[in-house]
Amino acid sequence: MGNTVNDHRAPDCVFCTIVAGEIPADRVHEDDQVIAFRDQNPKAPVHVLVVPREHRRDVRELAEQPELLAHLTSVAARIASDLADGDFRLIFNTGATAGQSVFHVHAHVLAGGTLAEGEM
Ligand code: AMP
Repeated sequence: MGNTVNDHRAPDCVFCTIVAGEIPADRVHEDDQVIAFRDQNPKAPVHVLVVPREHRRDVRELAEQPELLAHLTSVAARIASDLADGDFRLIFNTGATAGQSVFHVHAHVLAGGTLAEGEM
């Protein structure tokens, strides 16, 4: 499933490479629209990234497909229920100044403990 052809792949995008199954990731969910995998540098007991299979730069672009954005959000909620107590923080860093370092939109799902105010 990770190797389905993706016409919306961007060159030199690490998350497109993960979607294609060309580099490993610790996947916790996948379907025909999104995949989710554990962040390699976790900031909470559960720190998962939910990523659309098709390359979109950021949440502004993703919002042009409201159904996909809604699906991604519901997957995030399900992951928080499956891997933690159901409560979660959802973060879309958008733009370099706001801390976005990978320009393939991803929702950070943080869960599994009491998250401090302002903590990622
Ligand atoms: P952001 O700074 O919001 O763009 O978040 C990018 C996130 O991607 C960071 O939290 C990184 O730790 C994470 N990350 C980058 N490369 C990988 C990878 N190959 N596997 C898992 N997580 C990654």
